[in-house]
Amino acid sequence: METDILKQAYSPNSFRKQAHELVDLLADYLDTTLEGGTDKVIQWKRPEDELGYWKDFLKNGDQNHLFQNIMERIIHIHHPGYMGHQISPSLPITGLSGMMSALMNNGMGIYEMGAAPTVMERIVTDSLCQAVGYPKKARGLLTSGGSLANLTALISARQYYLNNVITTGRENRRLAVMVSDQAHYCIQRATKIMGLGEDGIISIPTDDNYQIRTDLLEEYLHNATEEGIEVFALVGCAPSTATGVYDDLDSMRKFTLEKGLWFHVDAAHGGAAIYSSKYKDLMKGAAFADSITIDGHKMMMMPGITTALLYQNGQHSHNTFKQKAEYLLEESDEEDWYNLAKRTFECTKHMMSLHWYAVLKLYGPSVFDEFVTRLYDLAAEFSLILSEQADFELATTPMSNILCFRYMVDTNEGESLNELNKKIRQSILEDGTFYVVQTKLRGVQYIRTTIMNPFTTAWHFRELLSKIREVAGR
Ligand SMILES: *Cc1c(COP(=O)(O)O)cnc(C)c1O
Repeated sequence: METDILKQAYSPNSFRKQAHELVDLLADYLDTTLEGGTDKVIQWKRPEDELGYWKDFLKNGDQNHLFQNIMERIIHIHHPGYMGHQISPSLPITGLSGMMSALMNNGMGIYEMGAAPTVMERIVTDSLCQAVGYPKKARGLLTSGGSLANLTALISARQYYLNNVITTGRENRRLAVMVSDQAHYCIQRATKIMGLGEDGIISIPTDDNYQIRTDLLEEYLHNATEEGIEVFALVGCAPSTATGVYDDLDSMRKFTLEKGLWFHVDAAHGGAAIYSSKYKDLMKGAAFADSITIDGHKMMMMPGITTALLYQNGQHSHNTFKQKAEYLLEESDEEDWYNLAKRTFECTKHMMSLHWYAVLKLYGPSVFDEFVTRLYDLAAEFSLILSEQADFELATTPMSNILCFRYMVDTNEGESLNELNKKIRQSILEDGTFYVVQTKLRGVQYIRTTIMNPFTTAWHFRELLSKIREVAGR
């Protein structure tokens, strides 16, 4: 009996049949979704109801409807009305590389456990390093998400600092990282994981447009040093998650050079701007950063999660996790770039490089230029439309495809604008024609949009604004 079920589960014929059906389902989805159609972005349900549905399905549902039912109960990232969190409408080809990765399941910890994807990882990260403007000694790696890449980079930075910059054996040292008050929460989380404690992060104020105040860096560093805190790294946001505003990386890198600090650029969202002939200046200075995080699944049309972490000096990536794991990792004198687990947090990881390599092979780097440029242009167009409306207010001058704004009208008795905008966002979510998110900036509630679909148009922006007026009852 047991062998029967295993035979059935591994049956090539059922796989062939199911796969063809699924590919048809997904292709139909792309066909009806990418440029909008009548379907909603999201069919919002309360978590308890959704839980009830899937509990029941597990018992009574028809297995032949599994994928179809999932399809109807998830958010549709490829919809032009999807303007929510920063995640790519992934390219169809990466659905196929993802399937290959899942089924072939090469663990990639060491070279033998995935020769092709290992060298592909070298090739795609080399090409990223080149696009950034890094020198030949640069090396990169792929890892599971921007949060993990940032943690890894900061561990490398600390390792470098402790090994090379300061060698005195002081006890109870207080180490810290400087970053803008708009940084992604994962930077603070990284410093906590690293055990840096409460003052492990020094938060630098931002200006009216939420960009780091580089004029304050000197003073904050000085104050920290006076207090006995050793700052070993400065992190730049490219751009910051909430507002989409890029820090002035060029000024920051000059500061870190002068002070001997590690400069890490968190370009999880906007690193792909290096490919844009129009917007690459936003990344000016990044070529001098010690390390850079770039998410493939945000602005490079890859599925979640695949992230590149690049080091200007590849040697630093080999020191991050130096330790013994003899059954797997042997000591070596040459640079064994092909034993990936020496440099990553992961031991087993999925074959992420397949996505990058397939996209480069099929479409070349110009597809990244087209995508980023188009989306940043669209956000600029949307901001123009917004600035023409008397009843809307922008939070910032946009520098990327992230745009925050709020509805500004006389509110009902006892209701604040913050409450009204919160209510609007909830109604939009439940309506499902569009998907937008929200953020609070300096106490003010905003509707937050990230334009992620290159086929979104000005028509959709105007429709969204009408929808907002409608749900607000105006
Ligand atoms: C999204 C984001 C992260 C986190 O990346 P994940 O891939 O979601 O872990 C970190 N920093 C910035 C600036 C981001 O936008």
